Amino acid sequence: MKIPLVRPAPPQLSLAVPELQSLEQSGIFSNFGPVNTRFEQEMLARFFGGEGACMTVCNATIGLMLAIKEAVGDQPAGQFALMPSFTFAAAAHAARWCGLTPLFCDIHPQNWAADFAAESAMLRRYAGKIAVVMPYATFGYPIDLERYKRLTTRLGVPVVVDAAASLGTFDVHGRGFGSGFAGSVVFSMHATKSFAVGEAGLIYSADPDRIARLRTMSSFGFGEPRSATMAGLNGKLSEVGALLGRLRLADYDRITAHRAALLNRYRAALPELDFQLRALGTQAHQFVPALLPSGLGGCRAAIRAGLEDRGIVTGTYFSPHLFEQPYFRKVSVGGPMPVCDDVSARMISLPLFDTMTHHEVDQVAECLRTLIRVTEQERRPKPSRREQYMPPVYAAISGASGELPLE
Ligand SMILES: *Cc1c(COP(=O)(O)O)cnc(C)c1O
Repeated sequence: MKIPLVRPAPPQLSLAVPELQSLEQSGIFSNFGPVNTRFEQEMLARFFGGEGACMTVCNATIGLMLAIKEAVGDQPAGQFALMPSFTFAAAAHAARWCGLTPLFCDIHPQNWAADFAAESAMLRRYAGKIAVVMPYATFGYPIDLERYKRLTTRLGVPVVVDAAASLGTFDVHGRGFGSGFAGSVVFSMHATKSFAVGEAGLIYSADPDRIARLRTMSSFGFGEPRSATMAGLNGKLSEVGALLGRLRLADYDRITAHRAALLNRYRAALPELDFQLRALGTQAHQFVPALLPSGLGGCRAAIRAGLEDRGIVTGTYFSPHLFEQPYFRKVSVGGPMPVCDDVSARMISLPLFDTMTHHEVDQVAECLRTLIRVTEQERRPKPSRREQYMPPVYAAISGASGELPLE
């Protein structure tokens, strides 16, 4: 048996020879050419109901850098970028490239996104010093963007949403995640994401003027012919990249539905694990994140090795979490994060890919159940750590309330 964590399957260019030939004949290879324009229009219609605007970028990390820079300007009103510690390094790196200091907060025990109480506590404690708030729609989970709208309105702090894994997440009304949000929402189309293209990203905003500014910034800040009028870099997607994106869009519904079915099978087969809170509507899935039973976090390496012996590859996204990583420990500031520490320590990422079969899910689940049973038998079960989620000191600091601080 050989079951990888992910098996990247971007669209096959070798099957798109006529499209490639017409691209070559056009003589246009980048700079928001016709294939890219078509792709952006299709993405806006498919995921955002045609409302607002979107633009491609060469990858989501550059997209985050552009979005943060656009949001905070050249003279940021504050030094910090507030984000959960339970996210990917790209978010904190992007903040650093914009001259900001990552400020990490704790996460919610069920959806694993920034905890509103913890985030509000940091907004209070660092009032006036936070240049941008960067929530992460964790593993494609549809976080409450209404809260972030209110945050910008009440506190005047801009919001950039890291929605790297969220293309394919829809609410119950069929609106794609991010629709109607006036800040920047940044998606990734990396080969390992469910909307797999290779290297590519997308920035959406309900505000077309914001996308127009970002487009200028993404092309060296050239607001006038070969003359920079604002901060810039080269974040453009090639026409070949856009072609791959168009091909992916064509079969994406089938892919998301298959992945969702596999995830449901995992949930049913592994009652001993804690899965992410179920989203209303549909959620895109990159791999399958799950928490080992309380007390088994310390046995994770052994359990993963046991799976690997049987040909099953797993991951630990995101462990270590950002504030545990040597570089970010040096250059960032962190608040209390007991939930993040616990979730990260117990997290195991299970295989999920387009060509995976239900039978393979059963095999992974069966192996994992056996390993958990054996491990638990070898250890005396410890009392649940759930009650430790919010120790008194943390509750006191956060005020245990998700209310936004008012001026
Ligand atoms: C994948 C990912 C990114 C980076 O996306 P790229 O397109 O690879 O640059 C950023 N943030 C999160 C949370 C991710 O998972």
